[in-house]
Amino acid sequence: MRILLGLLIFCLNTSAYAQSWKEIKSDHFLLYFIPSSVILNSSDSSSTVEAEDFSKEVLRKAEVYYERIAEDLGYQRASEFWTWDKRVKIYLYVDHDSFIKASNHPAWAGGMADYDTKTIRSYFGSREFTDTILPHEIAHLIFRDFVGFKGAVPLWLDEGVAQWTEEKKREEVKKAVKEMLKRDGLLTMDDMMKLPIDSIKNAENVYIRPTRTRKGEKGVLFLTGNNLITTYYVQSVSLVGFLIEKFGKNDFTGFCRALRDGKNLEEALTTVYGTHIRNLNDFDDQWKDYIENYT
Ligand SMILES: [Zn+2]
Repeated sequence: MRILLGLLIFCLNTSAYAQSWKEIKSDHFLLYFIPSSVILNSSDSSSTVEAEDFSKEVLRKAEVYYERIAEDLGYQRASEFWTWDKRVKIYLYVDHDSFIKASNHPAWAGGMADYDTKTIRSYFGSREFTDTILPHEIAHLIFRDFVGFKGAVPLWLDEGVAQWTEEKKREEVKKAVKEMLKRDGLLTMDDMMKLPIDSIKNAENVYIRPTRTRKGEKGVLFLTGNNLITTYYVQSVSLVGFLIEKFGKNDFTGFCRALRDGKNLEEALTTVYGTHIRNLNDFDDQWKDYIENYT
């Protein structure tokens, strides 16, 4: 679920639907849905539920994630961000088609977070929504609220933090990234920092990227657009997981704070993890050690 910044079309389309949206509120969120029966799919079945019932469950879970994610990132709870008129808006469209149509988003999208309007948009469709898209999009907004826009935050960190909140995905990612390392299939740190992954439009095209083998030698990867995007996203969350699991939550908060204060990624890393990580190459090496030592 990549991020789109301030697209006007979202706002225009919203007003067109405004009359039929019903609003429900919690301390930090306003949730909008169109009262109707909606179909929810899970891995083995699908069922019909009332949009209102599921929306209430979404709102309840959103508050749980708000607390948890803010605490994980070291956000002061006392600051009471996102209350009253600063509440985050969640729009749930009746189905995937309506969401894509209204948001003008590419067909693969499952949700989006808009920083400018503090709005999350997604759709009724999956029972797993409350475990996946919901925490992911909330994390995007909290993370950006925390680090601001002053520092140069690479996309992998944004997406890594958001994916880390999808707790059920963590084990799967660990397996996948370990496998990629084994066959020397990981992107370079340079690509992670600079590759304009959002511009990869063609899933079938083959992209040729450099790699650094486990022995430190130069190599070449041939990846389809799809594989390139998957590799990038898996690496993103794995890098974040490495920092949090290896060095703890407090250091990660310090790292985010350094970014908020305007440091670039390498400076923020060395400020906080300087005794272990002196540059991006060290970061890459130690991350790979950590992957290899997964049990
Ligand atoms: Zn995302």
